[in-house]
Amino acid sequence: VADCVNGEWQTPEILPYGDIAYNPALASLHYGQSIFEGMKAFRNVDDEVVMFRPEENFKRFNISAERMCMAQVPEEIFMGGLQKLLELDNAWVPDGENNSLYLRPFMFASDVYLGVRPSFNYRFMIIMSPAGQYYANPPKVKIETQFIRAAEGGVGYAKCAGNYAASLYPAKLAQEQGYTQLLWTDAKTHTKFEESGTMNVFFVKDGKLITPKTSTTILKGITRDSLITIARDKGYEVTEQDVFVKDIIEGIKDGSVTEVFGAGTAVVVSPFSAIGYEGEDYVLPEINSDSVSSVLKKGLNDVRKGISADTHGWVYK
Ligand code: PMP
Repeated sequence: VADCVNGEWQTPEILPYGDIAYNPALASLHYGQSIFEGMKAFRNVDDEVVMFRPEENFKRFNISAERMCMAQVPEEIFMGGLQKLLELDNAWVPDGENNSLYLRPFMFASDVYLGVRPSFNYRFMIIMSPAGQYYANPPKVKIETQFIRAAEGGVGYAKCAGNYAASLYPAKLAQEQGYTQLLWTDAKTHTKFEESGTMNVFFVKDGKLITPKTSTTILKGITRDSLITIARDKGYEVTEQDVFVKDIIEGIKDGSVTEVFGAGTAVVVSPFSAIGYEGEDYVLPEINSDSVSSVLKKGLNDVRKGISADTHGWVYK
């Protein structure tokens, strides 16, 4: 826990996990100045605890803070806090292919004040929890063409609480229709893919990878960036481009689109079983160990677990 009081960061403390008291006029409860990151620590094959590209999460956290008009968090508090917590005896980092310790740094406005203005005080915290595989079965996702997640000029690229709050209702409606997740489309025309609920999205068409290019409406995923690099290292062609819904639906129908998968810290690489569009479900071929998503997932896991060489300097010990 570290508090920023009128722009001055106080000395961080490690406290036992438990409830915290809050004032009913706490600014973040009313106006939503609240941001977070999702990261993981792994136990590698040499029994060392490592993080994967944590500096990228640190950078993104302060980008989110800037957009939400919040205090910038110093590196020694964000990175130093993570390292200190991972050194604790009870920071249990499980081993095994799909297991990790999920790390959740977050920050909220801690002024006790009811006027609408940026808070002068912020509380930064990190909590941690062991995590296993996110989806037991490949999710069936719905292409969302009514609600929007993010519009240009908005806060889509920030990892702020409000983005997730706004997506709960459309996600609930999709779940009532039998879908696990949403695939968001652009706010203006609903014809281009953006990203999914907690992941960026990739398509395999004619054996090549395509993914929507990042913009102010998409969270710049660290997994997305890593997979693009791993895929290129492995000789796949990858393009970041506009990805039109109609091209993907046509491609599933004519067999040129063979895989659609999500990429994110929590889900790692998650192939979709089917995508729903305007009341129809378009079923994707089953995944096997030669599928592009399986090859990329293994590539990513092997770097994180120390099975293959860390040629890009991604593993942080
Ligand atoms: N988009 C959204 C909306 C997310 O919540 C996440 C998870 N952080 C991602 C994409 C993937 O980002 P990353 O690979 O950095 O976890």
